[in-house]
Amino acid sequence: MILEVIILKINYMLKRVYLDYAATAPADERVIKAMEPYFRRFFGNPSSLHYFGQQARGAMETAREKIAHLIGAQPEEIVFTGGGTEADDFALKGVACAAKLSGNHFITTKIEHSAILNSAKFLTKQACLPCLPAGRPDRQGFVVTYLSPQKDGLIKPENLRAALTDKTILISIMHANNEVGTIEPIKKLAEVIKKFRGAKKFPLFHIDAVQTVGHIPVDVNELGVDLLSISAHKLYGPKGVGALYVRKGITLEPFIHGGEQERGRRGSTENVAGIVGFGKACELAEQEMDAERIRLAKLRDYFIKEVMSKIERVTLNGHATKRLPNNINLSFESIEGESMMLSLDLAGIACSTGSACSSNTLEPSHVMLALGVNPEMAHSSLRFTLGKETTKQDLDYTVNQLVKIIKRLRDISPYKH
Ligand SMILES: *Cc1c(COP(=O)(O)O)cnc(C)c1O
Repeated sequence: MILEVIILKINYMLKRVYLDYAATAPADERVIKAMEPYFRRFFGNPSSLHYFGQQARGAMETAREKIAHLIGAQPEEIVFTGGGTEADDFALKGVACAAKLSGNHFITTKIEHSAILNSAKFLTKQACLPCLPAGRPDRQGFVVTYLSPQKDGLIKPENLRAALTDKTILISIMHANNEVGTIEPIKKLAEVIKKFRGAKKFPLFHIDAVQTVGHIPVDVNELGVDLLSISAHKLYGPKGVGALYVRKGITLEPFIHGGEQERGRRGSTENVAGIVGFGKACELAEQEMDAERIRLAKLRDYFIKEVMSKIERVTLNGHATKRLPNNINLSFESIEGESMMLSLDLAGIACSTGSACSSNTLEPSHVMLALGVNPEMAHSSLRFTLGKETTKQDLDYTVNQLVKIIKRLRDISPYKH
């Protein structure tokens, strides 16, 4: 009992530095304040025509306008979802069903989030969707082409062009990679698709913009995309709410068949408070993003410079300049990422490794392998992602701890060095 209290106290007193904003960000205080009334005072169902319902509907539509405004879209082009994963899944399955008579070929990349990779994998299964007519050989599941990035994570427009066929109905490419932070040349890729499509309806272009919306400028018309996924909790909003932007004129198969919510595109009573918080987060991002991304890019470059000058045999993964302002991904030769991550956690620092620990086998990250990083260096990577509450002092503390941890781990490392 006494020991527990002491441990609790030590845990409480320990300096905590959160450098995992790409995994999730804390909700902004102003977001929480905006959400609060929609749990009790304005608790109505937005589909109800009485006062209570209309209060909720009004707030939801205001939020829709704010989200649309942030990405240069029209409010009616925003469909609320239960997060980024759902938005990605909706884009793939919605197009698969809607375009079932036009083709069965998808193009994506090897470095997508599992939200895209596993949806695509599902669609390759025979007769995976009831909407697909059975019996026709070309309708039995989808064929997926996975584009390989260059070493810096960039997808080349020529490679996309070469993969397009007259059966291609959808291309899905992430705006920025969540592990290594590389920002893809979306505008150039969209031009390739538009030229190929001509006056036809397909293929459509979807981007997973979960890591970019609210962090760097994103405009659907400027980029030339048809569908775009957003998640609120990656931009200081609540978890479990997101949106799919669907360009006017595109009809997708509804994601949830049910009520008429979201113009029949996603049944279920809306997450009103979550949506209000999402809207507030987008409004704040619009006002504060420009100053913040400059501040973060400076901190990012400072951190990289400090680590490189104080620790030997470190490499930066991802593109040197075309990268998210808050992303740092480094490989530390001859050390396991997991050991570093856990040692940092003991020092109160939260970051992430690229590897996924599954059933006793430690697979290196699919992103690192796709970039051509050798498996050993892929295992030695750490991702630090910065955010609103990150200070220079946090980074100095992290570098100091990292220097000590790396020295200790390299001293006991069985690898040759
Ligand atoms: C976090 C993330 C998602 C998933 O979003 P959720 O709201 O957590 O479901 C999808 N894509 C990328 C690139 C992400 O970083």
